[in-house]
Amino acid sequence: MSSLFPALTGSPDGRPALRFGERSLTYAELAAAAGATAGSLPGGGARVAVWATPALETAVAVVAALLAGVPAVPLNPKSGERELGHILSDSAPALVLAAPDADLPAALAGLPRADVDVTARGPVPAPPAEDGDPALIVYTSGTTGPPKGAVIPRRAVAGTLDALADAWRWTGDDVLVHGLPLFHVHGLVLGVLGPLRRGGSVRHLGRFSPEGVARELTGGATMLFGVPTMYHRIAEALPADPALARALAGARLLVSGSAALPVHDHERIAAATGRRVIERYGMTETLMNTSVRADGEARAGTVGVPLPGVELRLVEEDGTEITAYDGETVGEIQVRGPNLFTGYLNRPDATAAAFTPDGFFRTGDMAVRDPDGYVRIVGRKATDLIKSGGYKIGAGEIENALLEHPGVREAAVTGEPDADLGERIVAWIVPADPQAPPGLEELAGHVAARLAPHKRPRAVRHVEALPRNDMGKILKRALTHG
Ligand code: ATP
Ligand code: MG
Repeated sequence: MSSLFPALTGSPDGRPALRFGERSLTYAELAAAAGATAGSLPGGGARVAVWATPALETAVAVVAALLAGVPAVPLNPKSGERELGHILSDSAPALVLAAPDADLPAALAGLPRADVDVTARGPVPAPPAEDGDPALIVYTSGTTGPPKGAVIPRRAVAGTLDALADAWRWTGDDVLVHGLPLFHVHGLVLGVLGPLRRGGSVRHLGRFSPEGVARELTGGATMLFGVPTMYHRIAEALPADPALARALAGARLLVSGSAALPVHDHERIAAATGRRVIERYGMTETLMNTSVRADGEARAGTVGVPLPGVELRLVEEDGTEITAYDGETVGEIQVRGPNLFTGYLNRPDATAAAFTPDGFFRTGDMAVRDPDGYVRIVGRKATDLIKSGGYKIGAGEIENALLEHPGVREAAVTGEPDADLGERIVAWIVPADPQAPPGLEELAGHVAARLAPHKRPRAVRHVEALPRNDMGKILKRALTHG
């Protein structure tokens, strides 16, 4: 196949490619450093693990592996010993690439270590890699169960990034502000490989902060990729920070993904900056499926339309495809296209169960489509679809309604067994003022007035914080199982 990174494999030049804190690399420096690292990697179908701290070395290591045609397995440095042990025995890497100053935990003691030297110089290799060869093995976020290793082929990486370039008019002139971890698809594939494939550049904040975003957007960056918890912090900071509002107003593109962006935060940001955050929807297994287009309407609460090359359908429980786009009929999102993974590592059973006989991937996400085809995710089949009183109710719209209540800071909605209703709607609330938490009657009335009476919560539980993973996704299992 053609190169994943034309700007690195042609005649790389002195344009900026990566900046992490004070340290940066031009395209020529990145090609040389990744070339040197690539030269030290094992061949023969071996895999390499990458200790994915938010550092220049992580980006160089992954680019090196991709240039060498060696599948890379990014590791979350915050994983516990048990999760790391599982991932290492599952993916069996030949060595781990790490920054020289990284302290590796005991779980990695048995694995040879190679330090990444970002100042080294070596030629860029050109191995015979095919489109279908594995590029990355990325573990899912573990929101609904133990993480599964998704084998992502080179064609999916190239295909998804080019589809996003089309949707977002993403070019080599774009400069991305990045504050996400590098061991998931969002931060790694979109946030690092995306700009490098376009010939643009990345500025990583190390740790996300609204101030860092304002500084970079004021200093020439054009795009921001974030998860909803980041946009929530931005929405909270905006009223007291006119410089942040000006910086966001001047950005070319503000993109959210990895979980649903609450409508309340979308609207607050729009009101303060005049800019609407656009949402895209994807998964480790499928990379990106849909997005609001840069030239499209950024409607709050929707994830836009299928990306070029992606076939998307909504399917009811009995297998019928939903053809009427009425904004109401809920079905599971199924997708097919060059963006798909090839399977879960060592899990032929799970892989087979994930595909329909005609090759569509069952996402487990439930959605409706607006009359013009915009996809509106209502939640996950496993945790967010509540069957109550004969209705199928998505947790997402109830959460959005609850978040509009001034007494609610954070909200999560789950279903609980109920003798009468089948399931009853439970609202888990982080109150804005812990001294005056809003009660059941108040919140039930609030929801019933906005949505419909059958969507009102039947129980309210006040909590100090919601359990979330490193991408800010709410862990509903942890809520309902204590
Ligand atoms: P696991 O599969 O291990 O339970 P996970 O599904 O959270 O974890 P990822 O592959 O990182 O792992 O996340 C994909 C999921 O994130 C999607 O299936 C969807 O539920 C959710 N998601 C991603 N983008 C959006 C979005 N814009 N709006 C709503 N949900 C989203
Ligand atoms: Mg998943």
